[in-house]
Amino acid sequence: MSYISVKGLTKRYDDVVAVDSISFEAEEGEFVALLGPSGCGKSTTLMMLAGLEDPSEGSIVFNGQDVTKAAPGKRGLSMVFQSYALFPHLSVGENILFGLKARKVSNNERNARLEEVLDLVGLRAHVNKKPGQLSGGQCQRVALARAIVSRAPICLMDEPLSNLDAKLRNEMRTEIRALQKKLGLTVIYVTHDQVEAMSMADRVILLNQGRIEQNGKPEDLYNKPESTFVAGFIGHPPMNLIADAQMVLGIRPEHIALSEGTGLSTSVINCDYHGANTLIAVDYRGHALKFILQGHHNHPVGTPLNIQWQRGQEHYFSDQNGRRLAVPTVSHFLTEGLS
Ligand code: ADP
Ligand code: MG
Repeated sequence: MSYISVKGLTKRYDDVVAVDSISFEAEEGEFVALLGPSGCGKSTTLMMLAGLEDPSEGSIVFNGQDVTKAAPGKRGLSMVFQSYALFPHLSVGENILFGLKARKVSNNERNARLEEVLDLVGLRAHVNKKPGQLSGGQCQRVALARAIVSRAPICLMDEPLSNLDAKLRNEMRTEIRALQKKLGLTVIYVTHDQVEAMSMADRVILLNQGRIEQNGKPEDLYNKPESTFVAGFIGHPPMNLIADAQMVLGIRPEHIALSEGTGLSTSVINCDYHGANTLIAVDYRGHALKFILQGHHNHPVGTPLNIQWQRGQEHYFSDQNGRRLAVPTVSHFLTEGLS
């Protein structure tokens, strides 16, 4: 039996189906990312798990108990939001303990838990400051600390790092993951950032228009995308997708290499220098393909380049519904690209 079990969860607002019959499970101690573009239903799903939105249909079970209709406070969970949701007039310590005070946890117990969490999130030196005196990263640590002191076994996070700059986001990713493992928390983590999902989560659930496109380990979504949507969403830059006769052929930019005299004869459209590498766009018979070369390359437009990739690195999808084709007829169109 899974720790979290969601079945047929649906949320309709008038004429909008925000979440469309999704089902998934999470094991105890698992870190699950709900990933997808803006408006795909991530926050709505999280709000239903939290008990802050009523589902139109479906059920939610936590640790064997049906909580579909339970009040938020009875679900054994904590939440962390993008906006931190801190009280500006309360100190760091008071913010962290606010929920415990409301739940009438004793003074001694509150202070003991505060002592424990301050070092965990690195806020000891700031305990008496107000949120206005803290950086964004420190505010987010206060919100994390508040979730941790509740000792709830499940933690729901909605884009907690979106307000932070890139460097801090990187650091906080590692911190949150380490804390989650140390405390054995079961985390459902909402993000639109594929790098965040891929690097932090044990499992990624990719949503598109209220439905699950794919649910699997990060490497499954990368290596075996179930649809053109997944193929285009996971990976940076996204997979090249080329409509070809009866199917769509996919090849990742990082799997394409230059070749001498063999492979596809292409011509350069554009070179984009990124420091460690260069993203090169080429034209092959009217199709644009992108690939990555290590180092700095600056080929003038129209420069002829031959490219190839290893057989087996291409992906095939139906041109009808975009689903992955299990046993593709090898594309005749690009066979000369295979080495
Ligand atoms: P995400 O968090 O993935 O960006 P949301 O779950 O916030 O997406 O929204 C999913 C869809 O539901 C969107 O089309 C959004 O406009 C719609 N929606 C969300 N909340 C409401 C609401 N209270 N009333 C009407 N539509 C809503
Ligand atoms: Mg959202």
